[in-house]
Amino acid sequence: MQTVLRARWNPLPARLWEQLVLQAGIAPDTQWTRLAKPEALKLVSLLTATELPVDGKSMNKEEFVTCGGIPLPEVDFKTMESRIVPGIHLAGEALDIDGITGGFNFQAAWTTGWLAGQAMARL
Ligand SMILES: Cc1cc2nc3c(=O)[nH]c(=O)nc-3n(C[C@H](O)[C@H](O)[C@H](O)COP(=O)(O)OP(=O)(O)OC[C@H]3O[C@@H](n4cnc5c(N)ncnc54)[C@H](O)[C@@H]3O)c2cc1C
Repeated sequence: MQTVLRARWNPLPARLWEQLVLQAGIAPDTQWTRLAKPEALKLVSLLTATELPVDGKSMNKEEFVTCGGIPLPEVDFKTMESRIVPGIHLAGEALDIDGITGGFNFQAAWTTGWLAGQAMARL
């Protein structure tokens, strides 16, 4: 059975999810099926009302690409068309792709953008 801490709500980065779960007072070994209503409500409140002030750039260069996005199994990589919403083509940062810095993210954006553009031009 999955714990709340480990089975995160997917759009959120793992470390942010862990912090919100712990701030909600949810013990690390709490399973989803055993989550008490007050803790669940506290988590919902944190998810919808947490303010995160930005006070500068990280020294770890983590800000170069945004993690998360449209899950890759939901995309046809030949055309970059959504398998969920036909007619919508996806590229770059919209996708759940993140590489280390050094050109991989640019390449991902250019390649997926080119594929999407080619497919849309054929429509
Ligand atoms: C500081 C920094 C350094 C980076 N260095 C590197 C690197 O060295 N190598 C590497 O590979 N990657 C690097 N990246 C990542 C790379 O820049 C991105 O992955 C890439 O640019 C993503 O391309 P994209 O077209 O998907 O998104 P973006 O480049 O973000 O383009 C999205 C565009 O959409 C526009 N837009 C947003 N909302 C709307 C709207 N509602 N209507 C109309 N337009 C809208 C935005 O203004 C923007 O022009 C870096 C990123 C940052 C922030």
